[in-house]
Amino acid sequence: MRDFTLKSYRSLLEAFQSAGYHFQTFEELMTAPVEGRSVVMRHDVDELAWNALKMAKLEHALGIRATYFFRVVKQSNVPEVIERIARMGHEVGYHYEDLALAEGDEGNAIESFKSNLAYFRGFYPVRSVCMHGSSTSRYDNRLLWKNHSLSEFGLVGEPYLSVDFDKVYYMTDTGYAWDGGKYATRDIVESPFELKFHTTQQVVECINAGQFPHHALILAHTLWTDSLFQWNYLHFREFLRNHVKLLAKNNRLVAKLYGKLVDAYWKK
Ligand SMILES: [Zn+2]
Repeated sequence: MRDFTLKSYRSLLEAFQSAGYHFQTFEELMTAPVEGRSVVMRHDVDELAWNALKMAKLEHALGIRATYFFRVVKQSNVPEVIERIARMGHEVGYHYEDLALAEGDEGNAIESFKSNLAYFRGFYPVRSVCMHGSSTSRYDNRLLWKNHSLSEFGLVGEPYLSVDFDKVYYMTDTGYAWDGGKYATRDIVESPFELKFHTTQQVVECINAGQFPHHALILAHTLWTDSLFQWNYLHFREFLRNHVKLLAKNNRLVAKLYGKLVDAYWKK
């Protein structure tokens, strides 16, 4: 059976609900965390914004509120999608990459961060931001916080800076697998939990068996799709991308070429 479809996404959400988990937004986790079992669904909308809308609708139909982080690039920043997602009661946050876009210039990065944040606040009273990995850039977007604080901008949290991952289990669907973390470059989290999943079905079985951690933050990108054509295309692309990323770790020429390709892809 195909995994990472809307159907398998639904099975994951329903497993959590049957096991008594409460779905919180990231903002709620920061400001008013619930006592009992809880899970935050965090969506980094790197691209394919219309897929995000489909996931948002599915969650909404199940009475779930999730958190969607949008980038400024056109593949993510689709006003109609952001508007509709906010209207369903989901949280909207800013998936920032200002330092990478400003080529490391801190002053320019802070200025663009401010104006982009204001832009997204036109859709939703944004209180959370989350860095984009910018895997091919030399600049780590989190360095924006070296001389600045979240509260300066009226923000309450940043997943990579504000969460105690000793208490909250972190899981991500990087590269169409729940154990694809080895392909990640910056979006890595140290975790003490001894759990390993590959398929969504394995996660569901763990939840059903009562063995899943009581608090979790789950990053799901927007690659979940029921369309056979898109699913095949994305699987092939992710397969290629993962292998090129691994190669690029040890080969500067491959890294450079890959960086150029990625830059060209995101050009506005
Ligand atoms: Zn991202």
